Amino acid sequence: MDIRAQISMIFHLDKCIGCHTCSIACKNIWTDRKGAEYMWWNNVETKPGTGYPTKWEDQEIYKGGWEKKGGQLQLRGAGKRKGLVNIFHNPNMPVIDDYYEPFTYKYLDLIESPSMDDQPTARPVSLITGKPIDIKMGPNWDDDLSGTPDYARNDPNLKNLSAAEQEAMFHLEKMAFYYLPRICNHCLNPACVASCPSGAIYKRGEDGIVLINQDVCRAWRMCVTACPYKKSYYNWNTGKSEKCILCYPRIEAGFAPACMHSCVGRIRYLGVTLYDADQIESIANVDEKELVGTLADSTIKAAQNSPTYKFAKTWGLALPLHPEFRTLPMLFYVPPLLPVMASLKETRQKEQGQKLHEAAKLWDDNWLYDTSTQELWGTLDEARFPLKYLASLFSAGDEEQVKSRLKKLMAVRMYRRWKTVGDVTEEKSNEVLKDAGLTKDMAEDIYTLTALAKFDDRFVVPASHREQALEMLEFTGDKKGATGFGFKESTAQRGL
Ligand code: SF4
Ligand code: SF4
Repeated sequence: MDIRAQISMIFHLDKCIGCHTCSIACKNIWTDRKGAEYMWWNNVETKPGTGYPTKWEDQEIYKGGWEKKGGQLQLRGAGKRKGLVNIFHNPNMPVIDDYYEPFTYKYLDLIESPSMDDQPTARPVSLITGKPIDIKMGPNWDDDLSGTPDYARNDPNLKNLSAAEQEAMFHLEKMAFYYLPRICNHCLNPACVASCPSGAIYKRGEDGIVLINQDVCRAWRMCVTACPYKKSYYNWNTGKSEKCILCYPRIEAGFAPACMHSCVGRIRYLGVTLYDADQIESIANVDEKELVGTLADSTIKAAQNSPTYKFAKTWGLALPLHPEFRTLPMLFYVPPLLPVMASLKETRQKEQGQKLHEAAKLWDDNWLYDTSTQELWGTLDEARFPLKYLASLFSAGDEEQVKSRLKKLMAVRMYRRWKTVGDVTEEKSNEVLKDAGLTKDMAEDIYTLTALAKFDDRFVVPASHREQALEMLEFTGDKKGATGFGFKESTAQRGL
């Protein structure tokens, strides 16, 4: 056993309002520099959509993450041999057009232009060349644009949906979207660490934060290819790669990272969990559909007050993004229920033969709360977001994993209706809770941590112990073909 601490995070997607405050907080502190203009260590995408960089989830294009070959895990598109072959041209590397060409506007022209017949305008100029450009895309170009042909319909998660299922999803009156905020997942099995030929990327043993040593980076950019979430970026000005550092100077001082501190929707939670580093390889190697459950059961034990442990393990409400990439992300998402609830209304409307323009009235009726428990769960299969779509994002295609989370979220709503509105009986609330695998106490705790939690409840930042640091190496050296596991002594322990 090799027990270590790992910072883990929860993002509650029903609470995200897509305000981008988190992105701006991060930008202002860390990437408002030459060479980093196009970088958004924190970005917020609209789903369905293609994201940033475009179609980052499609590993047929980018070859990120791990794959199982001959019973062993291998990097899909990076690593020593593949790196050597692609040394002068890496076809899987995102280029600036996949992100966007960063731009600003010539605002000074508005006030400094000489007098003339026409009003001056603030033309957009490239932040790379300084020349005027036609803006074709931005980091959140598809913001709120569910349904447009160029963005939503090119979402890589739609590939398993039939044409009819996709058509139903993009039916004008039924269209829905939600926001997906993303940062580096500070993975347990980070592909970026394993891919770096210079050994510049390391995972801190005392809290699991993944960092790039700028002095050691030699601009191979293997980490950019290897990270399946595309959260490692290349700075064209310094010639080094960079990534989210989880605001480690703030964490060490006991503060939450800036993106979390500033989050308007209070969707973010941070805590510490304990895990057995010896188990990482075997856990990352299990069958695809087992990746969610096994991770939680065999590697992670909670630090007692961690809100993230409660969401992910005690209540089983959160799931990692794309677990099939096998990097074992330490950021978990509570999947969005709101568009699903809207679908329930429509299902009942259909049954009752009511017209759409009468929809608003239905919220005042008891239509949802007098339905049988099985009927209630059954409506999840007709959700605006097909379970297949959400499962592609959060559970490697296992619809039951997503459904069980949504059931729990619905059950907590029923419980609160009983307590506060009174249109659900206690008996009914108990029945739904039991069926979803929750108790009344759990429902109360979920409601409290979701809706009422104060700052200190949401962020339980561990004390910093840099003197005890052990850093994860890119590979162990004695396992031919295997990469990504093992730790080295810290510089302090080596007396450097
Ligand atoms: S693989 Fe990507 S998401 Fe995971 S730690 Fe590395 S940069 Fe972050
Ligand atoms: S600040 Fe919070 S609510 Fe606003 S976009 Fe970011 S994660 Fe969502």
